[in-house]
Amino acid sequence: MEIRVVEKVLKVNDELAQAVRDRLRPLGVATVNMISAPGSGKTTLIERAVEALGAARRIQVIEGDPDTTLDAERIAATGAPVVQINTAGGCHLEANLVLRALEQLDLAPGDLLVIENVGNLVCPVSFDLGEDKRVAVVSVTEGHDKPAKYPKLFRCADLVVLNKIDLLPHVDFDVARFREYVEKLQPGVPVLDVSCRTGEGVDAWADWLRALGPADAVR
Ligand code: MG
Ligand code: ZN
Repeated sequence: MEIRVVEKVLKVNDELAQAVRDRLRPLGVATVNMISAPGSGKTTLIERAVEALGAARRIQVIEGDPDTTLDAERIAATGAPVVQINTAGGCHLEANLVLRALEQLDLAPGDLLVIENVGNLVCPVSFDLGEDKRVAVVSVTEGHDKPAKYPKLFRCADLVVLNKIDLLPHVDFDVARFREYVEKLQPGVPVLDVSCRTGEGVDAWADWLRALGPADAVR
């Protein structure tokens, strides 16, 4: 019985995710869903992307968090349009919430919509938000075994960002093993080493986003 309920929830979510796509595809807006554990640096990666892409490519942001508008305030300070979704304790975003957030954004052709999911490596993976690409973010403080422990995310990610690499000298994080785990789960998926603190890899992150054209609004 339990399983049937879960299946029904996911089916309804899939229909609403399709509604998100039906809204965004005709506009030519590419959409990215960022998934990670709390504190991996998703918000900072978005801040850097907004700075790097500048006026040439407008980024609009949907921020998901159980509580507070702290992340949305940070994004707003960059000048990017942003909507905060508070899930009232909920541990992932669902497509119906994204659909409602879209009402508050004025998306135009060529815009990039970045959705920062609730910090959680498990259930956000099961909920399609109508995105075109998924980005998995892991920071080096979390341990190199995360792909092995949370394989579902790394099987469906279009890009893996290994963040906070400036901290590598201070932590026991084996980059080669991390990459091996990821490669085993999804051969060929790109992995970018990034430090928002030193700026290393930020250009590559921005380039990856910049390369997402309206044609990527098809999955
Ligand atoms: Mg955040
Ligand atoms: Zn959840």
